[in-house]
Amino acid sequence: MMRLNGRVAMVTGCGGERGLGRGIARRLAADGADLVLIDVAPKGTRVLAAKPAGAWGGLPAVAAEIEALGRRAVTGLLDIRSARQIDDVIARALEAFGRIDILVNNAAAPPGADRVPVVELPEEAWDVVLDTNLKGTFLVSKAVARVMLEKKIRGRIVNIASDRAKVGTTNLAAYCASKFGLVGLTQCLAMELAPAGITVKELIAEYCGGMLDGHAFYAYLPGGASGGILPASMGDIPLDFDTLQPYGCFIGSAAVMILSDRDRATDAARNLMQFFSEESCGQCTPCRVGTAKALALLDAPIWNQALLAELSQVMIDASICGLGQAAPNPVLSVMKYFPHELV
Ligand code: SF4
Repeated sequence: MMRLNGRVAMVTGCGGERGLGRGIARRLAADGADLVLIDVAPKGTRVLAAKPAGAWGGLPAVAAEIEALGRRAVTGLLDIRSARQIDDVIARALEAFGRIDILVNNAAAPPGADRVPVVELPEEAWDVVLDTNLKGTFLVSKAVARVMLEKKIRGRIVNIASDRAKVGTTNLAAYCASKFGLVGLTQCLAMELAPAGITVKELIAEYCGGMLDGHAFYAYLPGGASGGILPASMGDIPLDFDTLQPYGCFIGSAAVMILSDRDRATDAARNLMQFFSEESCGQCTPCRVGTAKALALLDAPIWNQALLAELSQVMIDASICGLGQAAPNPVLSVMKYFPHELV
């Protein structure tokens, strides 16, 4: 039995012959999913407008490939900037399959008049890119997420961003802005759709498809850089406000980070202290000097745990703001929960 048998996946922007969407759809079908195939044009939007479309059959051809793999397929022409059109396609998909388990937001505006310096960028070109890449993804995600919530489906929404979602570059202002925004939207969706009180073990198993092959769950950071570190054996604690304090941790930004058996909590704590040392604004001595001193102590082959504990307490008690007060948390967690790494 294939792992996606009985699941339904919707992929936007998959009518093109050489695009990512077609490959994603075929792979999902190969893993057992039925497909809802979406594009704004029957043959997809060509990245190179001057290139002839040729004999490519577009969405019907992709559907035929899916069916050749033994799966079912529904196709739909849809401009993802239109909520009404999205609702129509989702209604057809539910009529055919009764559910949507996976959404891959792959559709994006093709390169066009936006690929110029900002001072020459036409407002209309900016709008096309932002409306398609960002607003369109928002609209489709919103509609499909509602279906998942109504039907109590623990589904997956995959948004295709870009390496330009983290670093800006010339002549790509609209594209970069849309992809930066897409990363933010994705993070907000993740935090809103995973229920408060879920455990990290449930998060890994039900929202992330399990650990990567060859990796075993070893430890986790429940609340970003300063929320502490807990071992996998404590992975059944509900992730919520007020549930982690008894263990010296907190939910913080809810940016959960997972360590595998190939990682070491001591390495993570050292990296985090380096981060805090660099981020310290230097206004108060306990944080400015404390983070640097702690980093030097963490660099030693054997941690001076007594001195680290004393230094941590001073930083917690006397730093002006939360950065210095919470910076020792990862170190204290390691000394408390990972003593085997310190021998
Ligand atoms: S605790 Fe806050 S105010 Fe004090 S040095 Fe650190 S970042 Fe600056």
